[in-house]
Amino acid sequence: MTEVADQFTEERSGEVTRIAHWIDGQRVEGDSGRTGPVYNPALGLQTGEVDFASVEDVERAVQAAKGAFESWRTISLSRRTELFFRIRELFHDHAEDIAKILTAEHGKVLSDAKGEVARGLEVIEYCCGIPELLKGGFSEQASTGIDVYSIRQPLGVVAGITPFNFPAMVPMWMWAPAIACGNAFVLKPSEKDPSASVFTAELLKDAGLPDGVFNVVHGDKVAVDAILEHPGISAVSFVGSTPIARYVYETGTANGKRVQALGGAKNHMIVLPDADIDMAADAAVSAGYGSAGERCMAVSLLVAVGHAADDLVGAIQERLPKVKVGDGMHPDSEMGPLVTREHRDKVASYIDRGRDEGATVVADGRETAPEGDGFWLGVSLLDNVKPEMDVYKDEIFGPVLGITRVETYDEAVELVNENPYGNGVAIFTRDGGVARQFQFDVKAGMVGVNVPIPVPVAYYSFGGWKSSLFGDLHIYGPEGIQFYTRGKVVTSRWPDPATSKVDLGFPQTR
Ligand code: NAD
Repeated sequence: MTEVADQFTEERSGEVTRIAHWIDGQRVEGDSGRTGPVYNPALGLQTGEVDFASVEDVERAVQAAKGAFESWRTISLSRRTELFFRIRELFHDHAEDIAKILTAEHGKVLSDAKGEVARGLEVIEYCCGIPELLKGGFSEQASTGIDVYSIRQPLGVVAGITPFNFPAMVPMWMWAPAIACGNAFVLKPSEKDPSASVFTAELLKDAGLPDGVFNVVHGDKVAVDAILEHPGISAVSFVGSTPIARYVYETGTANGKRVQALGGAKNHMIVLPDADIDMAADAAVSAGYGSAGERCMAVSLLVAVGHAADDLVGAIQERLPKVKVGDGMHPDSEMGPLVTREHRDKVASYIDRGRDEGATVVADGRETAPEGDGFWLGVSLLDNVKPEMDVYKDEIFGPVLGITRVETYDEAVELVNENPYGNGVAIFTRDGGVARQFQFDVKAGMVGVNVPIPVPVAYYSFGGWKSSLFGDLHIYGPEGIQFYTRGKVVTSRWPDPATSKVDLGFPQTR
């Protein structure tokens, strides 16, 4: 069972592994003839070659899911719960194996990868309470002799399309509630780090999930379009960049599907003059450079208000040389490489772009990058970033933190509210009244008060506003359950001579 993990936990042999699809409970090699390379970003070496699905491969996965759905939806809630407890145990026991796969293909440091698995596990644990989550309402004697009740039923075959930056957790946000609700699932993970999804499939099979309920097809736009156009798929969850999220939402809904598509972000962290500067600097460094800035909830822009700015820049500058950049498998490393060479080069180009646009380069990560073939970049800090600059507007998605200086709270809030993204936002202050006003004023889906990365716990839902989310429902938590089910209301009466008569009038409730 642990085949996939073994490739990462055992000595690396230097061989390139073929990564195949997972359909109907087994590994299936694609026959499209199209594949993509998978790298170990810390070594700069290709370690895998992943099959890219054809339209026919997607069709096979959907047919397997369709077949499995018919019996999966009949499984009792108590048996589904029992299975979810087993899934929880297996993922818990294999958390380190999963984390090693993440580090090997994504590059994030092992401690961070373990954190990713732990946050994903919380969603699985939430799903262990599925009988409670699917409970409907019941109104006895809504009319004389008539009861009314609501039930929630699964949609059928649903699909998830996921990004490279959380190769285990974001799929868990989707497959766990989808399957717990009684759906069958087709996952199209990122082609950059696909192995965690195949390992997930193996673990689910080991836990006893029937074949076909969870399937994985790898690939690119061909696979995504086949999913979006397939009439057998009822709903699509997407997490990725904003242009693709918009495309997935528009194409999926045009094809009659329910879609939730989470997009990119430019998360602002506002630091007011009364903030605890050390706490704010610790938070900025952790949230700006953790996972090399490749988090949709990373802080990418600090908005320093009034005299907070000089102190904050000084405090961050002090901390930067201490950030240990290195191979994520080494226990000392705090920040790993970027996911691909192309992405590293693109992120690094923003340092010159910022300087050319008039920002002050306080730290240049190219000068502190470790040696070697890995996709390295050290931590970079740009001060005096202005809203009209590309380094302000673009989602850089790397370890490049910008600082914008403003004079007032109102200016800071206006910056956040005018930004096209609205994923996460944070405010650092000691003033409870201002924090409370901020929570009221700000246009973003997830707000932190002295908390830089306010990813909601599993029993709330995750989602942004504006261009950070297309669709009506946030992901996981109560809204996730709503997304993967549809409601039905039953109005029922049992034969009773006392209440039976012919009445051609419109049904009345009294
Ligand atoms: P991406 O948009 O490039 O890819 C996401 C998925 O879409 C992948 O499975 C990919 O194969 C597929 N895809 C890529 N190009 C496509 C195309 N032209 N047509 C159809 N499908 C396509 O995103 P990424 O680079 O993997 O991930 C980083 C992005 O994801 C960032 O923008 C980040 O903010 C965002 N993200 C958002 C959240 C959130 O919750 N809002 C969470 C994680 C990541």
